[in-house]
Amino acid sequence: MGSERERSQDVEQSPDAGGSGGGLAALFGGGGGGRTRSAAPTEEFTTQLIAAVNAGKGKQALQIAGSNPGGAVQALTANSRFSAFLRAVGRNRPFESAERRTLDAIYDNAGSFENKKLVFAARYGVNISETEAKFTEAELDVMQQQASLLPAGQVEGLSTFKQLARKQGQRGGTFGGTSINMKGMATKKEFAHTFRHEVGHAIDAAIGGRVADLRTNKAGWRRLASTSELIGAVGGFKSCPTDVRQTVQRAMNQFATSSRGSFTFANSWESHLNGHLIKQMGAEKAAAKLQEVRKATPSDPVLGAAHNSSGGNGPHYKHKQWQVANGRAFFFNAYYAKPFSVSAETHNFLKSWNNPKANFSDKEWFAEVYAEWFRTSPPGKGRAFPSYVSDFMKKTVETYRGGTVQTHSGQDAASDEGGGEAGQQRDQAGGDGAWA
Ligand SMILES: [Zn+2]
Repeated sequence: MGSERERSQDVEQSPDAGGSGGGLAALFGGGGGGRTRSAAPTEEFTTQLIAAVNAGKGKQALQIAGSNPGGAVQALTANSRFSAFLRAVGRNRPFESAERRTLDAIYDNAGSFENKKLVFAARYGVNISETEAKFTEAELDVMQQQASLLPAGQVEGLSTFKQLARKQGQRGGTFGGTSINMKGMATKKEFAHTFRHEVGHAIDAAIGGRVADLRTNKAGWRRLASTSELIGAVGGFKSCPTDVRQTVQRAMNQFATSSRGSFTFANSWESHLNGHLIKQMGAEKAAAKLQEVRKATPSDPVLGAAHNSSGGNGPHYKHKQWQVANGRAFFFNAYYAKPFSVSAETHNFLKSWNNPKANFSDKEWFAEVYAEWFRTSPPGKGRAFPSYVSDFMKKTVETYRGGTVQTHSGQDAASDEGGGEAGQQRDQAGGDGAWA
């Protein structure tokens, strides 16, 4: 399983789709260069352009540059006005579509990797941080092409995206504070996906309450406070032997909190249960009792919730087995050390999607929804989304044009690191309170 297999069903943009330069065809090797116009600048063109820059008229300078972006870069560089031009232009975010096309062309004709970085930083309003590791030109190209395909104002001037940092590591990324932190590029496609995913976290933080409402109320994601709450929510024990129910709950408390900060449980549910049964009745009786509990598990929602979260690469890989009860699906999240639940409708969507990253938590689900929604052009065509997702993405996300930062507590925990051939993304760093 994994992301590689999804390739055949991708619906990617044609080069002309969206009116934004080379589109995903340029991203994934379909050409590019189609928007290159670089006739030598005339004296009149240069004079007008430099005058606009010197007057600080960014919008006008951009409009002039639009008739000959390559020539504009030449003229600006020859007159040492390239940085001044970018400063003036940067004051006009978010840009209109013609301006975005011009900025795409200026990037493509920037002439050097260093100039490309200047264009990227000015256009999107971010500081590029390379203190830990350096971006490659190919990495920046992918992010530029991807960012230019997202709605105007989502990356350009986004209040929660102020820094783009390169981190050590082969694959994956994180989002924290107002920084998108990217590791290396395994494939252009995966790198673009990771970037969209991290922008999704930034959008979540920027939009704030309305995304929280989508996650919590519409999609029904819940973080349960305790095993007692879980037991109540699934409707209580059913066929679990009555003489060990307290012991089961004690084992469950230990199981739930045993692997905080990890993606999977280090020790199986049964090993925790067995230890507690032995404590209660000694090894010999415990062995027989364990058999009894095992038999009861398929018809007991409390036992099922723990059993079906245990083992493998983690509960986010076991979503098809998550315990269903009372119109919801339940699982234990090892990382957050607590039980989670999600609405049956969202659970069905997750089953049809079959994307472990989206199963991980409410926050990761939204970041993956964002990445998936904007994978296609027009957006949202890659798969059947529930109507509450489609409505929200169309009405609230696609129309979002930057905004004020909502209060959101602490450093976030969301982090995604590609691991192994499955291409799974993992959320490292941070603690429990991070996304509270
Ligand atoms: Zn994430």
